Amino acid sequence: MGDVFQFMKLPRNPGDKVEAQVRKVEFKEIYRPLHSVDAADQSARCLSCGNPYCEWECPVHNYIPNWLKLVREGRLFEAAELSHKTNSLPEICGRVCPQDRLCEGACTLNQGGFGAVTIGSIEKYITDEAFKAGWRPDMSKVVWSDRKVAIIGAGPAGLACADVLVRNGVRPVVFDRYEEIGGLLTFGIPEFKLEKDVIRRRREIMEGMGVEFRLNTEIGRDVQIEALLEEYDAVFMGMGAYRYMKGGFDGEALPGVLEALPFLINNIRQRMGTLPADEAPLSMAGKRVVVLGGGDTAMDCNRTSIRQGARRVICAYRRDEANMPGSKREVTNAREEGVEFLWNRQPVGIVQLDNGSLGVRLAETRLGEPDARGRRNAEVVPGSEETIECDHVIIAFGFQAEPATWFDRQGIATAGNGRTTASANTPYKYQTSNPKVFAGGDQVRGADLVVRAVFEGRQAAEGMLSYLQVW
Ligand code: FAD
Ligand code: SF4
Repeated sequence: MGDVFQFMKLPRNPGDKVEAQVRKVEFKEIYRPLHSVDAADQSARCLSCGNPYCEWECPVHNYIPNWLKLVREGRLFEAAELSHKTNSLPEICGRVCPQDRLCEGACTLNQGGFGAVTIGSIEKYITDEAFKAGWRPDMSKVVWSDRKVAIIGAGPAGLACADVLVRNGVRPVVFDRYEEIGGLLTFGIPEFKLEKDVIRRRREIMEGMGVEFRLNTEIGRDVQIEALLEEYDAVFMGMGAYRYMKGGFDGEALPGVLEALPFLINNIRQRMGTLPADEAPLSMAGKRVVVLGGGDTAMDCNRTSIRQGARRVICAYRRDEANMPGSKREVTNAREEGVEFLWNRQPVGIVQLDNGSLGVRLAETRLGEPDARGRRNAEVVPGSEETIECDHVIIAFGFQAEPATWFDRQGIATAGNGRTTASANTPYKYQTSNPKVFAGGDQVRGADLVVRAVFEGRQAAEGMLSYLQVW
């Protein structure tokens, strides 16, 4: 047992942040890695609570205090082994989870005002350093079965499903329409939150474990679902949620008004060198940009615009800062990098001004009574409208799941908002209404978080292993 008062002697340190002036011109992760001494010292701040709330709030229920103890004792490979027992992508969750709303928000030290243990940074540290030191998942005891599983979608849900299957002797084949694995980890989340090398390394590790990726292959276009159902014993769908949600006001189709995800993907592909020849590179250099929305996607559009050299970036959101859906950490980062926020503003239209610029018409809002989910609805204040002049508007109102064209043909049921029906409560976890087909992640939950997609991919793999009688 270390010093139980370490948390009072040593302040929380999640790793140094690159200065705003430096980071706002580069597409690199903004948190510097923890040194091994700092990782051990920070781990020693953990109180090893008997009933750790952090574990409960972590969607994959990581054994947090246990791996913190291993880091404190310098037992890196054992920490990596333990961390992978519950999480297929720990180095990625450590980077992108909104820890302030999950594990760290629930940490007893946070409740007591001492600053939470830096759980996310240490989770990232464990896998990054273990990989560097040569640790690899131990596949030596795997007994291979002849069962065949196809996975549609190489996002976190599909990758997590593949990870659990392969560790249990089923070699999955993962299909994705994109040229690289990762789903929104690659083609959505910008490099200043998650550098693409991290995903490439994960791909190498997974291929080394026996996972096969067939990229640039869209199911329903290049390969039909019927062919998969014929060739494989079961299919997992982790196809995400990509239906763009419109604002429903005038002017959304004006030139210069952009949808968030194509803008982000365009930027990422420019940097990866994979922008299709028929797609023009988008740039906000020298432009005045208004981003509409208050979630993670909006923050990523703000900060990408800043890095592209935008003259001014304003982010408008219809609720106040306390009621925004995105991570507080990302708002702080965006603000430090020069993004201006207009809270309590609802867009009511976009117009082309006489001088050729765009004008975003924003009305002030006030918060009404909480709805059934406890969120307070924004109500427009009459007569409060103002127009903000700009060159580009980026709309980031979120995404919904949608059924694929083959769902009816294959008897796959959907719930409200196009979400595929599957849950932990079906006879085999995450089985859809077609017994051979399983599903998880954003496709089932609607747009959500990486770590929840990981959880559902893992759960579905367990359901499939029971269904296939491998277990
Ligand atoms: P996806 O990641 O969307 O992956 C689905 C994959 O399926 C894609 O690769 C797609 O190409 C493939 N696919 C779909 N249909 C087919 C088909 N027919 N054939 C072949 N392949 C197909 N979450 C966080 O926790 N932290 C963050 O900071 C964060 N930031 C985000 C920023 C942005 C801009 C966005 C859009 C989302 C962000 N999220 C964040 C949410 C998170 O990325 C998603 O919840 C998560 O990626 C969902 O995982 P998934 O595997 O269900 O789907
Ligand atoms: Fe926290 Fe996310 Fe890691 Fe769970 S997976 S411990 S919520 S950072």
